[in-house]
Amino acid sequence: MANESYDLIVIGGGINGAGIARDAVGRGLSVLLVEADDLASHTSSASTKLIHGGLRYLEQYEFKLVAKALSEREVLLKMAPHIIWPMRFVLPHQKRLRPAWMIRIGLFLYDHLGGKQTLANSHGIKFADHPAGVPLKAAFTKGFAYSDAWVQDARLVVLNCMDAAARGARIMTRTRAETATRSADGWQVTLKTSDGETSEVHARGLVNAAGPWAVRFLDDIAAQNHPYSLRLIKGSHIVVERLFDHDYAYIFQQPDGRIVFAIPYERDFTLVGTTDVEHSGAPGKVAIEPDEIAYLCEAINRYFERSISADDVVWSYSGVRPLLDDHEDNASEITRDYRIQLDTAGGAPLLNVFGGKLTTYRRLAEDAVDQLAPTLGRHEKSWTHDGHPLPGGDDANPQQLVAALQTRYPFVPSSMATRLVFNYGTRALTILGKAERLTDLGEHFGADLHAAEVDYLCAHEWARTAEDILWRRSKLGLRLDQREQRRLADYLGCPSLAATEEKT
Ligand SMILES: Cc1cc2nc3c(=O)[nH]c(=O)nc-3n(C[C@H](O)[C@H](O)[C@H](O)COP(=O)(O)OP(=O)(O)OC[C@H]3O[C@@H](n4cnc5c(N)ncnc54)[C@H](O)[C@@H]3O)c2cc1C
Repeated sequence: MANESYDLIVIGGGINGAGIARDAVGRGLSVLLVEADDLASHTSSASTKLIHGGLRYLEQYEFKLVAKALSEREVLLKMAPHIIWPMRFVLPHQKRLRPAWMIRIGLFLYDHLGGKQTLANSHGIKFADHPAGVPLKAAFTKGFAYSDAWVQDARLVVLNCMDAAARGARIMTRTRAETATRSADGWQVTLKTSDGETSEVHARGLVNAAGPWAVRFLDDIAAQNHPYSLRLIKGSHIVVERLFDHDYAYIFQQPDGRIVFAIPYERDFTLVGTTDVEHSGAPGKVAIEPDEIAYLCEAINRYFERSISADDVVWSYSGVRPLLDDHEDNASEITRDYRIQLDTAGGAPLLNVFGGKLTTYRRLAEDAVDQLAPTLGRHEKSWTHDGHPLPGGDDANPQQLVAALQTRYPFVPSSMATRLVFNYGTRALTILGKAERLTDLGEHFGADLHAAEVDYLCAHEWARTAEDILWRRSKLGLRLDQREQRRLADYLGCPSLAATEEKT
C-alpha cells in the first residue's frame, strides 16, 4: 500500500475510532482506520457494558451528560437490537447511605431527562414479593427498579468497523502508526504491521482516537505541542458463577459513596464491577490486583445472603478509562464526558478525541465529523442517528429471530440459536448457511463453537487469534477448556494462546 492516499486516517480501533470512521465514510470521505492490536482490544472491551445515562452522575450535577446519554440510549437500542438490549436494574434502599426522597428525585429525573423514552419508568419495589429480593439479605426490604441497557461492547466496535468497511473504508488491524508528519497539505504516516512490514500512507486529515494513548500519540508519534493531559483510571471486573436466577441487574451503593453493579452475564455467570484506581503504568498492561478483587467481593457480600471470595472468580478483566484531567481528587468524580478538539492552525487538520463513554460514541463521532468534514471540503449532513442499523441489526425483534432461526435450522439447540442471534443478529444466517445438521458446520471446538462461526469471524470480522474469538467476538473463553482453546489456536495457525491462558 505504498503511498496510498486518503481523505482521513483514523488512529485507533476502539469505539471512538470505529464510530468516526463509519460516520466519515458515510459522508463521502475516503477513510483508513489503523488499529495497533485487535479491534476493541483495550478500553472498549473492558467496560461494564452498559448503555446508560449514568444514574450516579446526577449527584455530580452532570445533567447535560446524563440527558445526552439517555437520548443516545434510545438511538442505539434501535440501531443494534441484537447486541444492545433493555435491562432492568434494582437498587436496594439503604437509608443511611442515601435517603429515599433523594433517590426518588434522581430516578424521576432519570426517567425524563432523555426526552421520549421507550423503556419502562422507575418505581419502588418491596423485596418480599419481588424476584430480585430472593438472593438479598433479609435486612433489605425495599428498593427501586429502573431501566438502562446492556451492550456487547467489543462487538459494537467490530460492527461499526464492518459497516464502515461496507461503505468503503479500509480497516487495518495489528497495524501501528509509528510516525505521523504534518504539513500544510496533509499527513504522512508510517505504518508497521505486527509482521514487521512498514508502509507509508498520506491523508488530508488525521483523527487521533488512540484512547489511553491519545496524549502519547501527540507527544511521541505526531510531535505536536498541546495543552492536554489525561488521567488514566483503571477499572476492573470479576466474573463469578451465576449468583441469582432472574434477569434483573443490581446496583449496590457502597459505604465509600461508590456503586458496584452485579449483572446477569453470559447466561450462567454474574459480572461484578467496577473499581476506580489511578493508573500510572503503560495503558496496555492492566490487570486486576488482589485488593480490587477483595473490594468487589466485599461489595457483593454486603448485599447477598451467599457470600463470594477470590476463589469464586472464574475470570477478570481490567481497562483504563482515558479521562480528561479536570484536577478532581476523587477518581470516581472526574467527568466522563468527552472533549473533541479540532486543530487546523498547525497545518493539515488534526482532530483529537479525549474521554467519553461507549454510550455517547455515536454523538461523539457525529460531532467530530461535523467539525472535520468541512475542513476537507465535504458538507454532507450527519446520517447515523436514524434508520441505519449496524450489520445484523436489521431485525428489530431478536426474540422472534431466535424462533425463526430454530424453525429454519431445527438441529440448532436453543441456547446456541439465542447466542448466535444476540451476537450476530440476522448475520447468524450467513454463519449457518446451507447447513442441514450440526456436523455441516465443520469442526467442533467445544461449547457451541464450530468452524463455520470461526471462518465467518476471520472472513468478515478481522479475527485472527483464539483470543480475538474467545474474548472479544464472543465470550466463549468462559466455556472452552484449555485443550479446546489450544485446538482453536492450532486451527487458526496462530500462537497467541499464551495471552488467552493469562486471562483465564
Ligand atoms: C472499567 C470501565 C468501565 C466502563 N464502563 C462503561 C459503561 O458501562 N458504559 C459506557 O458507556 N462506557 C463505559 N466505559 C467507558 C468506555 O469503555 C470508553 O469510553 C471507551 O471504550 C473508550 O474508547 P476509545 O476508542 O477512546 O479507546 P480504546 O478502546 O482504548 O481504543 C483506542 C485504541 O487505539 C489504539 N492505538 C493507540 N495508539 C495507536 C497507534 N499509534 N496506532 C494504531 N492504534 C493505536 C489502541 O490499541 C486502542 O485499541 C468504561 C470504561 C472502563 C475502563
